[in-house]
Amino acid sequence: MTENLIDLKRLRAEELEALALSLGESAYRGRQLFDWLFRQGATSFEQMGNLPIAFRESLRRQSWIRTISLTTRQASRDRTEKSVYVLPSGKAFETVIIPDFADGGTSSNEPARRVTVCVSSQVGCAMACSFCATGRMGFIENLSASDIYDQVFHANARSLELFGREVSNVVFMGMGEPLLNFDEVLRSVELLTSPRLLNLSSRRITISTVGIAGRIRDLADSKVQANLAVSLHAPTDPKRSSIMPVNRKRRTDLSALREALEYYAQHSERLVTYEYCMFAGFNDSIDDAINLAEVARWVPSKVNLIMYNEVPGLDFRRTTESTLNAFVRALVDSGVTVTVRRSRGQDIAAACGQLAGPQGN
Ligand code: SF4
Repeated sequence: MTENLIDLKRLRAEELEALALSLGESAYRGRQLFDWLFRQGATSFEQMGNLPIAFRESLRRQSWIRTISLTTRQASRDRTEKSVYVLPSGKAFETVIIPDFADGGTSSNEPARRVTVCVSSQVGCAMACSFCATGRMGFIENLSASDIYDQVFHANARSLELFGREVSNVVFMGMGEPLLNFDEVLRSVELLTSPRLLNLSSRRITISTVGIAGRIRDLADSKVQANLAVSLHAPTDPKRSSIMPVNRKRRTDLSALREALEYYAQHSERLVTYEYCMFAGFNDSIDDAINLAEVARWVPSKVNLIMYNEVPGLDFRRTTESTLNAFVRALVDSGVTVTVRRSRGQDIAAACGQLAGPQGN
């Protein structure tokens, strides 16, 4: 129904101004239209009360407003909240809002210190990592830049309401491999950092990838300054290939990844973060830590260890605290900067690797 119509939210501010001019209106009307779409979150032309009726009629005849529709919300004991949205196609995806409180969230009166939104960039994912619920869905659909932006826009309002502050950080760690939806992801970062819109600092935006080497180079060449995280999860080719099919291809194995990261490091001043999910008995030995320290030395980096959230039906188990502590010690002794992330929202399947929409369950 919308095939021959212009998706207004694909247009940049100057393109909306040009559209207004082409319809006999001033460029100012185009700027107002931009505000309605992205600052006010308008979902219909009726809402745009300060635009002339004739202009709205012309827009209605030749364009449409793409929107994501909220279907359900689920709150975790730790106050993490998962929202399920539906695209115009009817496909569902998830967004997670993760507040961080000084007191751990036990007192509801204090505003959060930080609120992170974990956005999806695709419905499903083609990467088929064997520990991940989304990977079991296969690839279904790419999100558009405005679908990604809208997740943060809605999360921002929700965060003010629930946690007393706006969103502070955005991580592309929800459903999908962001670098396989490259143009839309970069355009969404442009929207998120626009001073006319949410004005987020690119330092607070992190794009996480399984290591699409060619696209890491493209990211280095782009003007986008977001942080880069690499989902490593295993420090050698045989181990990594056994859980991450992407590593079985020569153009995306560890040596290709290393070359791409070296290129990235030459073009960016940012540290690369390696995400490393700890799986009991698979990648949590001292030898694994020593191999991981080797990888961490490729480029300026830090390692983020993640305690795995078990997914029903998958064989991976959570590492014990004592094994984690020994692993951390071995990394620190090798000069690696390490942080440990204890996942949030586990009880509502909102934690890393647990996102799977209704299609995936
Ligand atoms: S871990 Fe990320 S890249 Fe791998 S299957 Fe899951 S969503 Fe895709």
